[in-house]
Amino acid sequence: MCCEQGGNSGRNPTAKELREAERVAALDPKLQKYHPTAVSSDPDKLAHINTYGLLPEFYVDQPFICRRCGKREIWKAHDQKWYFEEAKGHIDARAVECHSCRRTKRQPPE
Ligand SMILES: [Zn+2]
Repeated sequence: MCCEQGGNSGRNPTAKELREAERVAALDPKLQKYHPTAVSSDPDKLAHINTYGLLPEFYVDQPFICRRCGKREIWKAHDQKWYFEEAKGHIDARAVECHSCRRTKRQPPE
């Protein structure tokens, strides 16, 4: 796959991308579903999720502010899909730290 370092990872979003992600995140779910950035879910792969609530039908880009350094990034819809469906993440999980803070934590302290 090419362009992995491009603007599509959510790692270094432009102001325009952040604005659009924030706009979409605030939309009514009925409208989000039809947005071009929405990624539909695979209910079979969400069977590990034991919730009284409804399973997500789709994912949309989630803008967030890193709780450690304050950097703004976007948790991309396709990354959420991977996290919940392949990595079997907890359904209430939210991105709270940016890519570089998460990477820093994995390294041993100096
Ligand atoms: Zn950070």
